[in-house]
Amino acid sequence: MAKKQFKAESKRLLDLMIHSIYTHKEIFLRELISNASDAIDKLYYKSLTENVTGITREQFEIRIAADKESRLLTITDNGIGMTKEELESNLGTIAKSGSLNFKKDNEQKEDIDIIGQFGVGFYSAFMVSSEVKVISKAYGEGQAYCWESSGTEGYSIAECEKDGCGTEIILKIKEDTEDEKYDEFLQEYRIRSLIKRYSDYIRYPIRMKTEQRRPKEGSEGEFETVIEDQTLNSMIPIWRKNKNEITEDEYNGFYQEKFFDFANPAKVIHTNVEGMVSYNALLFIPSKPPYNYYTKEYEKGLQLYSSGVLIMDKCADLLPDYFSFVKGLVDSQDLSLNISREMLQHDRQLKAISSRIEKKIKSELTELMNVDREKYEEFFKNFGLQIKYGIYDGYGANKETLKDLLLFYSSTEKKPVTLAEYVSRMKEDQKFIYYAAGDTVERIDRLPQTELLKDKGYEILYFTDDIDEFAIRILSEFDGKEFKSVSGDDLGIEEDQKETEEVKKETEDNKELLTFMKDTLSGKVSEVRISQRLKTHPVCLSSGGSISIEMEKILNAMPS
Ligand code: ADP
Ligand code: MG
Repeated sequence: MAKKQFKAESKRLLDLMIHSIYTHKEIFLRELISNASDAIDKLYYKSLTENVTGITREQFEIRIAADKESRLLTITDNGIGMTKEELESNLGTIAKSGSLNFKKDNEQKEDIDIIGQFGVGFYSAFMVSSEVKVISKAYGEGQAYCWESSGTEGYSIAECEKDGCGTEIILKIKEDTEDEKYDEFLQEYRIRSLIKRYSDYIRYPIRMKTEQRRPKEGSEGEFETVIEDQTLNSMIPIWRKNKNEITEDEYNGFYQEKFFDFANPAKVIHTNVEGMVSYNALLFIPSKPPYNYYTKEYEKGLQLYSSGVLIMDKCADLLPDYFSFVKGLVDSQDLSLNISREMLQHDRQLKAISSRIEKKIKSELTELMNVDREKYEEFFKNFGLQIKYGIYDGYGANKETLKDLLLFYSSTEKKPVTLAEYVSRMKEDQKFIYYAAGDTVERIDRLPQTELLKDKGYEILYFTDDIDEFAIRILSEFDGKEFKSVSGDDLGIEEDQKETEEVKKETEDNKELLTFMKDTLSGKVSEVRISQRLKTHPVCLSSGGSISIEMEKILNAMPS
C-alpha cells in the first residue's frame, strides 16, 4: 500500500498545528466530538431536505470508548461519513474544511448548527496520539475506507469493513513522559469531565459504557457493578429553551452547579437577542459576594459559547468592571473565532454583545430597584461598593450608567435612598445635595456640622464608605444639583451671607481668644473661627480646602 505524502507545506503546517496552535491538548476531544456532531447534522439535514425515509433523529449518537490496555480511544458517529475522495481531500489537506463548504452551500437553514469552519480541528488529535485511524463509510455507499496516519509521515487510505454509515476515529494515545501526561485521556472520569466542560450542549447524545455500582436486586445492603450505557452530555442548553418553559428551580439548579454557589442567585437575567449579532445570554446576580470578590484573586468574566461549544471560560471583555459580580454565559453563532477557537479573531461582535449586556444588566437592576426595593437594597449592600468604584474608576466615563443605581442613607428617611429621590424632596430654597461623611450612621448623626441643615429641614446623605466622597467628586452633580459637604466652609445657604456681618463683629471682639486658641492648637489646626453653623454644640471641625476631613483621613491612611 503506497503511502501518500502530505504536501511539503502541509508537513510544516501539521507540525505547527500539533505544537503551537492549541494551548490545551485536552481540546482534541472537543474537536473530534464537534466533527461527529457536524457529520450527524449533515446526514440529518439530508434526510429532511431529500425526503430520505428510515432516518429519525433519535437514532443518532456519538460514542466514546476507551481501552486502557491497548491505549485506544475511539470516537464513533453514525453521521454522513466520508467517501474515499472526501477522506483524501478533507483529512489529507490541512486547513480544508468540508464543513465550511457545507455551511456556505446551505446558509440560513433552520435547525442545523455546523461547528466546523477552519479545517484544522481534526489534526488536534495528533497532540495526544501517536497514530490516528479513521474508518468511514459515506451515506449511500457500499464500501468503507480506512485513513491512517502517524503524524507528519503522511497517510494511507485502504478499503476496509464497516457496518452502516458514519465514522470511527481511533486514537492510539501517546505514552506518558516526564513532562507530558496522556494516560488521563483514557480514564473515564477525565473523559466525562472533558465532555461536561466542552461538549455538554452538543445536540446529540454522547454515550459511553461505564461501570456503575448499584444496589443488587433482591438483596439488602449488597452492591453490584454493572456496565451500562450512559449519556454524558445534557444536550439541551437551558439558555436556548423558551423562558416560560424554564422553572425557577431549573435556573437555580443550573446556577448552583455551574457557578459553584450554595445559594440561589438573587436575580436571573435571561435574554435572547436577534440582530446584527445574535446571541443568548443567561446571567445571574449572586445573592452574596463570592468569598474572594473584593480581592485581586477574583476573576470576572462570562462563559463564552459558540453554537453550544465552550470557547472561553471567563471572557473578561464581556463585562465591565463595575458589573464584575455578574456570573453567567453568552452563546452566539456569530463570533468569528480564531483558528484554535481559543480566541476571537476580532472583537467587534464581542464589543456589540458586551455593550448590550451592560445595558441589560443596568435595566434589570433598575427594574429590581423599582419593583422589589428590599431586594435591591440587599443587592446594593453586597455590590454597591463595586458600583461606586465604577464611577470613581472611569473618571466619569461610567457615571451616566451608574449614577441612578446609587443608594445612600438619608438623614430624614432613615434608610437608603437614591439621588433622584433626594432631589425630588429638596426644599424650594435648597440649592445643593448635602452629604456628611463618617464611619457609621450613628456617628454622623452626632456631627455638629449637620445641625443647622437639619434645623432647616434639609435632607443629608450619609457617606459611610471610604469611596463615597471620591465617587461623588467624580459625579460632581446630579440632575443639575451640585454636592456639598456639611463640613465644608460654605454651605451655600442664605444664613451664611446674612450673618457675615455679625460674625465679623464677633471675630473682632474675640480676636485675642481666637489667637490664643490657634496658638495653643498650633500644628493641629490652621485657623480658629467664629461660626454661625452650630446650634447645641460649642465647637466643630471644618476643612478649609477642597478635600474633606474624611477624605484627608483616607488619603493619609493610603500607602504612599
Ligand atoms: P472543520 O471541522 O473545521 O471543518 P476539521 O479539521 O475538524 O475541520 O475537519 C475537516 C473536515 O473533515 C471536516 O470539515 C469534515 O468535512 C471532515 N470530517 C472530519 N471529521 C468527520 C466525521 N466524523 N465525519 C464526517 N466528516 C468528517
Ligand atoms: Mg472540526
